[in-house]
Amino acid sequence: MTAGRLPIIATEEAFATPAQIAEMRKVIDAATDYDPDLFLWKRMVGGGPLTEALLDLEGDRIAIMDAAGIDMQLLAMTSTGVQMFDAATATSVAAEGNDLLAAFVARHPTRFAGLATVPVQAPAAAAREAERAVGLGLNGVMINSHTNDEYLSEPKYWPILEAIEALGVPLYIHPRAPSRLMAAAYRPDHLEYAIWGYAAETGLHGLRLITGGVFERFPKLKVVLGHMGEGIPYWLYRIDYMHHMTGQWPETGRAKLSLTPSETFRRNFAVTTSGVNWDPPLRLCLDALGEENVMFAVDYPYQETHEAADWIRSADISESARRKVAFENAERIFGMRRG
Ligand code: MN
Repeated sequence: MTAGRLPIIATEEAFATPAQIAEMRKVIDAATDYDPDLFLWKRMVGGGPLTEALLDLEGDRIAIMDAAGIDMQLLAMTSTGVQMFDAATATSVAAEGNDLLAAFVARHPTRFAGLATVPVQAPAAAAREAERAVGLGLNGVMINSHTNDEYLSEPKYWPILEAIEALGVPLYIHPRAPSRLMAAAYRPDHLEYAIWGYAAETGLHGLRLITGGVFERFPKLKVVLGHMGEGIPYWLYRIDYMHHMTGQWPETGRAKLSLTPSETFRRNFAVTTSGVNWDPPLRLCLDALGEENVMFAVDYPYQETHEAADWIRSADISESARRKVAFENAERIFGMRRG
């Protein structure tokens, strides 16, 4: 047992800006059809405790971290970021949010770091905003899965991936509700959300980056997935097996890969524990991906900070793995410094 208190960095922690909330209210008011992301957003903009917690930066947030023994939060604008706005609105809300976040981080550099929000709808502008925001000191970029039902494996979005790879920072792909192409089957019992739909949507997105050949073109791109890897670590054996078997069938039309999907996943991805305070999937991720590729996260304010912190302090893993998961990997992968 290492003497002293375990430092803890939480790497998938949400906030909202007033402009983001105001624009989401307009999207909600203008909607005529059911939309699974708006179903949840109505709760987030309603003015209750969740809205308050998302908008709070200087208030209770640090006290909640201190009470649980969290040294740092890696902040990002809450899902769906700016991805449900028109391109011009998305560009301005993202830029203002990145300015606000960078200024907040600069006031508390030993307690907070941040991921940039980019207007994915306008790929060239998104690439420029990623460069600008990292220049302001932010530590990477977060994109909330699909944008208008499209995935980043589409070449029109590759300028964003090219810019992020060149900056040498990670791309965090965070969940949102499934695209319209798959959402209908999730609607009964509202399974579109974190109970299942988020992982199905975001795991599909991660897999499409691999099978779509994104890492042939961008071999140094680092992608981070939350929620213990959105199911992908569990399926790696079968993904490899079936990718090899059906890859010999010309009708799949797949990109030719120089590595197996699992080799690509281990080389290009890291995962966080966000929202999953449970030893079995943690041990699976450590075993399948290696101890260097797993980072702690809470998913504040959607899940309880103290519960996640208590869990990682007591999880049944080695002390060296605990230190890597709790803070060392986040320091290396996101370039975070506790002062
Ligand atoms: Mn989250």
